[in-house]
Parts: sequence; structure tokens; C-alpha cells
Amino acid sequence: MFEQFKGQNLIQFADTFKTSEKCKTYLSHYKWKDGFSCSKCKHSQYWKGIKPFTKVCKSCRHVESVTANTLFHKVKFDLRIAFFILFEMSTTSKGSSSTNFAKRYGINQKTAWLFMSKVREAMGSSGKLPLEGSCEADECYIGGNEEGKTGRGADKKKKVAVVVEKSGEYGIKRAYALKIENCSSPELRKIFDKHIGKQAEVKTDKWRGYQPLKGDYNIVQEKSEPKVNFRQTHRFVQGLKSTIRGIYHHISAKYTQSYMDEYCYRFNRHGSKETIFDNLVQRMMMKPSLNYISNKT
Ligand SMILES: [Zn+2]
Repeated sequence: MFEQFKGQNLIQFADTFKTSEKCKTYLSHYKWKDGFSCSKCKHSQYWKGIKPFTKVCKSCRHVESVTANTLFHKVKFDLRIAFFILFEMSTTSKGSSSTNFAKRYGINQKTAWLFMSKVREAMGSSGKLPLEGSCEADECYIGGNEEGKTGRGADKKKKVAVVVEKSGEYGIKRAYALKIENCSSPELRKIFDKHIGKQAEVKTDKWRGYQPLKGDYNIVQEKSEPKVNFRQTHRFVQGLKSTIRGIYHHISAKYTQSYMDEYCYRFNRHGSKETIFDNLVQRMMMKPSLNYISNKT
């Protein structure tokens, strides 16, 4: 009988996933909960495979393992370690580095990094649930050693657009960050199209790049004044920056988005920590396997 894992208790977690078989049993629930469908020919009938946790298609004889066509495919270490890394990446407040995981689980740092990249891929937002209600949009800069320069002049850092949905006067319901090439309208439009609902009321500063978006979005522009307005947005940006700075000494442009996806995934689920591990497992099971992480920009 399948039982969804809930909570953040590490002892309970370790007791539940004592062996890699227990982990595979957990995965097999999600893999085949709607029945078998051959990934090669879509046939729905199967034989049990010779190896445990495999099924053989009765039509084309394709052998499918529980991790095939998921982000767990070809993981180079015990599935238990993968589960522990998932648990830490989802339930802790700030995540961790591949160097740290390599030490904690006795695995190679590069292997740890590669697996974490797949987890971040699973954490990425589909954009299917756009922000609504009272929102704010802004841009910021991520990366580099010193904090200092912000605003549109700091060219060497990675430019990032952020949107937040406010909750009351001080709270933030959800937020997203998207790496952009520059602060032009077409670049800013990307985060609006992906994450902002057409009914949302979006406050931005006076930057002219937002003006052409007014035809499609409900935008109100207001002069940005430190500690007076855009407070939720600034708080979100501070958290994002300090977390990324705290874990990575240097982030390349190529991976900025995936680190931000990880941050936003946790941030947007601060109220649903009970089921966050299970949610992440399900996401790992739905995504296709990544053969070439480096294709990602
Ligand atoms: Zn088949």
C-alpha cells in the first residue's frame, strides 16, 4: 500500500527509506499509477521483468525500468543517496552545494552536481499558474563578489527580472525570477508572458521598458523609493541574492536560471513543506531524462 511521505523529520525519512528497494517501491507507484504504457509503442500490457522493478512490453518486448524516462535515469549512485539529496534540497531552507553533498554522502562532487542539476530541472516552473491579484515587477543583478552596485548600470552581473504576487501589505504569496539579456521591453516581456496573469495588477518603477507592455498587461508605474515602496520585491531579491551568494562563490551565466529556479521552488512552497519532498519526487518522475545538461542556457 502506497503511503505518501510527509514532513521534514530526518529520522522518519531515514526509517522510511532504509533501502534502495524502498525508494524504488516509492517511485514505482508514480511511474505506473495510471497503468503501464510502453514508452516505445504505448502498448498497455506487460510482463514482469526478470530484474526487479522492471516491466516488459508484451507487444514490442521493450524492457522498462522504474527510473527510465525520468530524471532518476542513470543516476550514478544508490537511489537512497538520491532520495536524501532530494530531501535536503526540498526541506531545508537554503539548499546546499555539490561539494557539501559529496562529503556527506561519499560521492564524487561532479556526480553530485549533475544530479542536483536534474533536481533543479524538476524544480523549474512550468508557468502554468500565473501570478494574479496585486503584483510587482522589477529587475536586479545577481552574481559577482561584491554587492554594491544595483540598478541598470551594473553590466557585468547577470540581469534578472523578478515578479512577486503580494499577500496583504507585507507578505509575498509567490515570486519568480528569470534571467534576461537586458532590460529592454522584449526581454522584460518574457517574465510577464510566463508568470503574470492578464488580470493581475502589476506595479513597476518608471523604467520605459515597461511601457510597451501596457497594451497586454495591467501595469501601473510608480517612482521607486527605497524603504517606501516595492518592499516585498526588494525583500525577495535580498533573499535570492544572499542564498545564492551563501552557497556559490561564483555562478556562471549558464546556470544562473537553474539556481534561481531552485530558490523560487522552495520559496513558493514555504507553506507546504509537509508534502514538498513528495512533490519533488513526482516532478522528477514526470520530466524526461536529460542527456546533455550543458544544452541548457
Ligand atoms: Zn512496446
